[in-house]
Amino acid sequence: MLPLHNPALLRQQALINGQWLDADDGQHLAVHKPANGELIARVPAMGQAETRRAITAAAAAQAQWKLQTGKARSVLLRRWYELIMANQQDLAVILTSEQGKPLSEARGEIAYAASFVDWFADEAKRGYGDVAPSPQADKRIVVLKQPVGVAAAITPWNFPAAMITRKAAPAFAAGCAMVLKPASQTPLTALALGWLAEQAGFPAGLFNVLTGSATLIGEVLTASPLVRKLSFTGSTEVGRQLMAQSAPTIKKLSLELGGNAPFIVFEDADLDAAVEGAMVSKFRNAGQTCVCANRIYVQRAVYERFAAKLVAAVQALQVGDGMAPGSTQGPLIDARAVAKVEEHIADALAKGGRLLCGGQRHALGGSFFEPTVIADASPAMLFAREETFGPLAPLFCFDDIDEVIRAANDSEFGLAGYFYSRDLARAWQVAEQLECGMVGINTGLISNEVGPFGGIKQSGLGREGSRYGMDEYLESKYLCFGGL
Ligand code: ADP
Repeated sequence: MLPLHNPALLRQQALINGQWLDADDGQHLAVHKPANGELIARVPAMGQAETRRAITAAAAAQAQWKLQTGKARSVLLRRWYELIMANQQDLAVILTSEQGKPLSEARGEIAYAASFVDWFADEAKRGYGDVAPSPQADKRIVVLKQPVGVAAAITPWNFPAAMITRKAAPAFAAGCAMVLKPASQTPLTALALGWLAEQAGFPAGLFNVLTGSATLIGEVLTASPLVRKLSFTGSTEVGRQLMAQSAPTIKKLSLELGGNAPFIVFEDADLDAAVEGAMVSKFRNAGQTCVCANRIYVQRAVYERFAAKLVAAVQALQVGDGMAPGSTQGPLIDARAVAKVEEHIADALAKGGRLLCGGQRHALGGSFFEPTVIADASPAMLFAREETFGPLAPLFCFDDIDEVIRAANDSEFGLAGYFYSRDLARAWQVAEQLECGMVGINTGLISNEVGPFGGIKQSGLGREGSRYGMDEYLESKYLCFGGL
């Protein structure tokens, strides 16, 4: 049993049209604790018929919801926000249990998740349109913003709470309804958020949470003409597939896909600050975030000094069960994630990489892995092209700015990039030249509800959070008044 103040938050049924239901055929998915493999709960494996019912319910709810004022929508969102924060500890316990991250990080994620609800509770009141000066004297031109309709969301396991609210809050603020399919590794946080939305007074059908096979549910969500919008966070590979599946119904898409973030340390950087930034960017969530530094480039004059300081910081990490006090790095999500880190390490060492620390599965066993630093990284190594998604920091050495910008941009991805420098002119130059959607300058932590989150190139489409985030759930309707 999980240590919860309110056991009602642990839901083991899916939410459709305000009802908590099992699958029609009674099938379940088991949810395990990555820290020790223990079974935590079973959730229904909802199928295609259940998905169709959820879409129909969402469409009916949306027809009413869109008629509400922005202020009325704001009031409900604010209540949801308050309930999430009031249950921060329990939600964090559920999150850590199914995902593995340290409890302090999980509490941070719940606050981060709630911040989107708070933000969009305000934005709900600001769905401004436009009045444009007419080119003809007898006409007037007005632009209205209207909700897209039913939105579907498919979310990943690395941020089981925040990836949901970053999609659901703007959708509800804009006047859309949602059918959510959370990752099968982490459905419990999603169901708890659904339950809190219900407690906040959301009308039945507005927010439906379907656990089950991503392929089966995804097929119905993408094929349905009633679903007008799909927002997905996950791998580029699955994003590409969902984009293709959405083509026949020409859905609006938001895709937050893979990254391969460069993290550049120039010789004039504050090295201690750069190490601190690299630690949070690389090792937060055990390296399992899409904005994690994946390639660390350090200018030659400070290369060895930076490496020594980074290794000292990495060796101070405390690997352990996320629920244990003092843990700063939990287990990886599963054995496949561990295998990928091992593959990247073996490949780098075979190609001349120098192991500075870590490199092995952790003595705790399971999917725990030692935080690892490899020096003398080169472009031929796998992590130069692919996201490791684990606690491995490769250090590349560079000489000049053009060389490092070329290397940083030599990727099909373009999500986040980071650099440390105290030279203002260089900061502008690098910030403008990096090919990515988000740039951290003298910081390794860029995520918040106010800045637009999203990527370019094959890292995706659209922006989440910020004042731009609601546009993803709104259409512009142009009214042309003639004969005036
Ligand atoms: P990750 O590597 O982070 O697990 P995925 O892209 O595989 O990323 O998964 C992200 C989300 O997409 C999860 O909710 C997963 O269940 C879902 N997903 C995976 N494959 C498909 C698919 N074929 N159709 C729809 N959703 C999918």
